Amino acid sequence: MLANPAAPTGNFHPREEVEQLINGLGSNWTVVLDEAYGLFAGSDFRELIRRYPQVASLRTFSKALGLAGVRLGFGLMHPELAEQLRKVIMPFSLSALQSAVGEEVIAAPEYLIARIADVRSERERLYARLQKIAGVEVFPSTTNFLLFRVTDAAIVHRALLDEKILVRRQDHLPALAGCLRVSVGTPEENDLFLQILSAVLNPEAANHG
Ligand SMILES: *Cc1c(COP(=O)(O)O)cnc(C)c1O
Repeated sequence: MLANPAAPTGNFHPREEVEQLINGLGSNWTVVLDEAYGLFAGSDFRELIRRYPQVASLRTFSKALGLAGVRLGFGLMHPELAEQLRKVIMPFSLSALQSAVGEEVIAAPEYLIARIADVRSERERLYARLQKIAGVEVFPSTTNFLLFRVTDAAIVHRALLDEKILVRRQDHLPALAGCLRVSVGTPEENDLFLQILSAVLNPEAANHG
């Protein structure tokens, strides 16, 4: 299982690397590419599915389409692999309502494309602004969130929460000491987040305007 782009780091493995992994493992291994954030990265590995029958790609309506509540996703894979999978998934796993929503969304990609462009430009703005805040180490991202490191994740998380801003702590994960993850919001939400984060980390500067 390889989430690419990855969560919660937001980093991306280019196609050559993924292909190296597939070849290195050999055809006895099923490789599942989780492309939940693929639309934000502008990446699409379906071409590998055509070339490698042991590779599957998973997609979700939860992220770029903002339809997590619909609980809808799909997989792309060789028909033989799909046949094996069908033996273990629940019968009637998808409702008629879910299918109807999926069909509507696929028929209207304009909405999808506009939304992704907005998230990507706000992500780059947020990244640039976070880089300028003393006490923040921000990591580049190809997704709709940014991972960043502060000295004390617990204190910063609490202080943001007190201002009704919810970020996710990631500091329990290996190699992510001090890390928090923020989702890219609207420009106004992002500005508020930046303002409060700056004030929490650099109270002196904030007090003096
Ligand atoms: C959100 C997410 C998914 C899919 O979530 P569902 O809402 O269950 O479709 C899959 N993989 C990763 C890495 C995700 O972040």
